[in-house]
Amino acid sequence: MAKQTITVARGDGIGPEIMDASIRVLDAAGADVEWEHIDVGEQVYLSGNTSGIGQEAWDSIKKNKVLFKAPITTPQGGGYKSLNVTIRKTLGLYANVRPAIAYDPFVPSKFPGMNVVTIRENEEDLYAGIEHQQTPEVTQCLKIITRPGCEKICQYAFEYAKAYGRKRITCMIKDNIMKITDGLFVKVFYETAKKYPEIQADDWIIDIGMAKLVDAPEEFDMVLMPNLYGDVATDILGLMTGSVGIAPGANVGDDIAMYEAIHGSAPRHAGQNKANPSGLLLSGVMMMVQVGQPEVAEKVHNAWLKTIEDGIVTYDLARKLKAAGKEYTEVGTKEFADAVIERLGQKPSTLEAVKYDKAIKIKKPELTNVRNTKMNLIGCDIFTKDDCDANTIGDKLVELTEGTNIALKMISNRGQKVYPSGHPETFLTDHWRCRFYNKTQGDVITNSDITDMMNKISDAGIEVIKTENLYAFEDGERAYSLGQGE
Ligand code: NAD
Repeated sequence: MAKQTITVARGDGIGPEIMDASIRVLDAAGADVEWEHIDVGEQVYLSGNTSGIGQEAWDSIKKNKVLFKAPITTPQGGGYKSLNVTIRKTLGLYANVRPAIAYDPFVPSKFPGMNVVTIRENEEDLYAGIEHQQTPEVTQCLKIITRPGCEKICQYAFEYAKAYGRKRITCMIKDNIMKITDGLFVKVFYETAKKYPEIQADDWIIDIGMAKLVDAPEEFDMVLMPNLYGDVATDILGLMTGSVGIAPGANVGDDIAMYEAIHGSAPRHAGQNKANPSGLLLSGVMMMVQVGQPEVAEKVHNAWLKTIEDGIVTYDLARKLKAAGKEYTEVGTKEFADAVIERLGQKPSTLEAVKYDKAIKIKKPELTNVRNTKMNLIGCDIFTKDDCDANTIGDKLVELTEGTNIALKMISNRGQKVYPSGHPETFLTDHWRCRFYNKTQGDVITNSDITDMMNKISDAGIEVIKTENLYAFEDGERAYSLGQGE
């Protein structure tokens, strides 16, 4: 097999120290890898490139298809975009894999039995970053959940479970409230689950699901979540294992993958030979399995387990062990790497040794083409800005629909129906969602019906902010949510 070339970003803050330590361990374990270094992060940002990454770096990642990345500092202010989000979205790294495993008593944890892998959707959801201030009072952020996005992440999760011998996937969503977006996510989850009958599939509403996960993580095997929930959940799970310094992660797409610890660049600890390189080193272990060098991954992971079993730890774990009244030897970043290297070839005696005996490649997802699904335009929501009361704007709009094909069905304010028959107690902002249907509700309307209505509203001195089309599928199923109280 040809030598694998891997692109390396040494990062900022503690990044260079933990990356050098990790590469030294991987090399000592016999990794057949050529490391190709790129410059990304703080220096690139400060040189005037607000994305934090230049063309040469992109070229290297695209050529080698594997990026081993240390954490990067995002300078505050100045319009700098998070490089992590840029890399994930530009390269289509849709699956964020974050195992959270307790190594108690060697890493004291209140949850000794936990061994949970989170698969977090990495490209969509509120992270699409589509935000607007629509009126002086009202802002919005669009939550984008797509069928291809759901199919990719759900298939990835089941393929991962199959490849790594996991038995159950729990999907966490809030589909009782977000029936269309989170509803699609969980619908695709169960459609996908049918193709993997050997893997158990269940779901929880995220609020109680997270409470259960935090109360008894040992009862979970894998969890699958949309982007934002997954981001929050994995930091919590990481810390529950004992330290954010030991939590690894992978960002995986169809052809390219990026491996990184979940923690940041911890600038306060930079340059002190203090930081724990374990999160990055264990990300490197995940990477070696994926690039087809499972024997290297197994050797490094078992040596790492043996090192922490022997009580050799960096300051973050030393603090925990001290508090728990346990014996330990506190070492620096470099010395920790030396200790792992000394134990290459050894296995842990109390903790379970890991076995990666085959190269694992995860099958690319197959997408359903739904682009030609017929959807009928049956109404529209016209959003307006006004500082009057609900009845004044409602009566005015009813008047404006005279002689047109469409009728005002209702007006809502922050999603709550306020016209007709609103309640005086409901709080009102300056932002109104005005819902129109065909005068025969259910019949189609045209784009001209919408633009004519927008013009009439505008001519009446009411500011139109935006519109949303209301569609129904051929079988009559609604493709939009009802207003609360509609
Ligand atoms: P952080 O994760 O860098 O640090 C928080 C605290 O966690 C540290 O002060 C330290 O006590 C502890 N810690 C983190 N990593 C450790 C390690 N390896 N060993 C021992 N202790 C460790 O979070 P932050 O301070 O909020 O962010 C610092 C910078 O990192 C910011 O600029 C942020 O944008 C960036 N960041 C980058 C990434 C990434 O590149 N993937 C992720 C998160 C944050």
